[in-house]
Amino acid sequence: MERRASSPVIKYHAAARTGGDARLSIDKSDNLRILMSNFSIGVDLGGTNLRIAAVDENGTLLEKVTLGTGVSRGRARVIQDMCDAIHRLAKQYEKKFSLLGVGIGIPGIIDLQTGVMRESPNLPGWEGASVKDEIEKCLQSRPIVDNDANVAALGEKWLGAGKQVDHLAILTLGTGVGGGLVLNGRIWAGMSGMAGEAGHTTVEPDGVKCGCGNRGCLEQYASATAIVRMAKEAVAAGAPGLRVAAGSDAEFSARAIYNLAIQGDEDAKKIFHQVGRCIGIVLSNLVNILNLPMYVIGGGVCSAWEAFAPAMFEELRLRSMVYAATAPDSSSESLSSESMGASAKIESTGPTRTIITRALLGSDAGLYGAARLPMIMGS
Ligand SMILES: [Zn+2]
Repeated sequence: MERRASSPVIKYHAAARTGGDARLSIDKSDNLRILMSNFSIGVDLGGTNLRIAAVDENGTLLEKVTLGTGVSRGRARVIQDMCDAIHRLAKQYEKKFSLLGVGIGIPGIIDLQTGVMRESPNLPGWEGASVKDEIEKCLQSRPIVDNDANVAALGEKWLGAGKQVDHLAILTLGTGVGGGLVLNGRIWAGMSGMAGEAGHTTVEPDGVKCGCGNRGCLEQYASATAIVRMAKEAVAAGAPGLRVAAGSDAEFSARAIYNLAIQGDEDAKKIFHQVGRCIGIVLSNLVNILNLPMYVIGGGVCSAWEAFAPAMFEELRLRSMVYAATAPDSSSESLSSESMGASAKIESTGPTRTIITRALLGSDAGLYGAARLPMIMGS
């Protein structure tokens, strides 16, 4: 269908008033060259860093501001800092472009209907707060607020690993494990915005107690925090290489444990085998339930891909007949030839493939995804 270059902007504003149609219209415009670009402001509110960016509709970063969140100063100060930076960026770029809105990714579970934070492990003192209302009051306009992993999924869909697909799921492996779903180019929020919490699905029924109240969540086996915990447990059980690392590295970080694993330390390798196995279990469930074309692994722990991916793919092949039927014929997967799970039952025949891949945008996924929110949802 032929369109004039200026039509996406007009269509967006017209469609925004009619709800869901806005997203459809802007998705269809993705491949069009937009001559006069609008922009929006995205915020990645983390427990450590508060980052604010002005991004135009083509995904071009106009400016990025990074501030320390300073959670100990209290919620009001953090929100004030955020709004000050948003106002400055808005003033700066509204000279040339039209501001579509402000999108904010927040770590924790937020009720999208009420804007109330339900869980916020990385933002102490934010639980139960009417975060959206508080930001709106300070900002003098209504922001679009969503969970940080959901927003990262949207960022990867827009400009990262998922550019070529309409649907994807993401697992973000960091201090905790987040999860997000994008279906038809839009975040699948569920009934009240709490969908996609794959980090709190069970991989060990009687496993380690999780902060969410459950036992054996993925987060307890695949986060940076979990890797350090498992290493400390191994040290207590006598692992010599890890004991030396723990003694010489004040932080005894997940990275130090990864370095040991790639140097061949058996105890460190076992930890990443467990990480990969648990991610593989959750992915196999997601693949069987959703049959999406792409699953993206992001977050800081993703840089240990080499150490955990072989066990992850092995587990996927064993546990998911859907994955076995749709896995790409790629030597990039480290597969065990003696795997006799679902892959032994179903041969890959169709042209469609399930892609499991690393995130491409790194820590910027959430920032771009947050900026994308006003572009596809209206403000
Ligand atoms: Zn949990």
